[in-house]
Amino acid sequence: MKIRIAFCIIFFASLVSANKEKVVSHHEHRANSAHEHGSGEFNVVLAEKTLSVELHTPAESLVGFEHKAKSDNDKKKVSDIYKKLKDEQNVLMMPSSANCKLAKFEVEGEIFEDIPGLNVVSEEHEHGDHQDGHSDIEVRYVFECTNVANLKGMKVSLFKTLKNLKRLKVQTVINDKQNSADLLNETQPLPGF
Ligand SMILES: [Zn+2]
Repeated sequence: MKIRIAFCIIFFASLVSANKEKVVSHHEHRANSAHEHGSGEFNVVLAEKTLSVELHTPAESLVGFEHKAKSDNDKKKVSDIYKKLKDEQNVLMMPSSANCKLAKFEVEGEIFEDIPGLNVVSEEHEHGDHQDGHSDIEVRYVFECTNVANLKGMKVSLFKTLKNLKRLKVQTVINDKQNSADLLNETQPLPGF
C-alpha cells in the first residue's frame, strides 16, 4: 500500500499543470480497472532524472495462470518471468546512452507469493486484485538516469516478453506533461517520449 501511495504521490506531484478533475478521473480509472486478459496498464513517470515505471496486468499475461504457484514447474515459470522482467531491456528499449541504473524493482501479486528470492510486496486484496480465481500483478521499477534527453524515442519491448499481452493502456508524465495512448505492439513509440 505504501508503495502504491508513494507512486501515486510521485505520479500526481508531476501533474503540476493538471486540473483536479483529471486527477480524480485517473484515480477512478485505477480503482475500476477491469481484469481483462491480454490487456494491461503501463505508467511511466519521468521527474528530472528519476524514471518510475509501473505495469499492472492480469497474472495470465505473465505465466498463463493466476493461482499461487504450487508445483515446481509453476514456481519455475514465475521465477523465470521475474528474472526476465527484472532486466529492463525486456520491458523498455532504453538507450544505453541515457545511462539509466535500476534503483528499485519489486512485484506484487498472488502468483509471486512463497517463492524464495523475489522482492514481493504483500498483496492488498482490493478492487479486483483477486476475484473468482482471477488475480492481477503489479511490477514496479525506479531508474536513476544521468542523460534523460537520450530517452527520446523510447519504445516498449513488453509485447515480446509477454506473449499473452496484446494491448497496453499507457500513461506517461514527463516532468509536468501528461500523455496517453493504447499500444498494440513494440513499434509504437511511448507517448511523449
Ligand atoms: Zn484472469
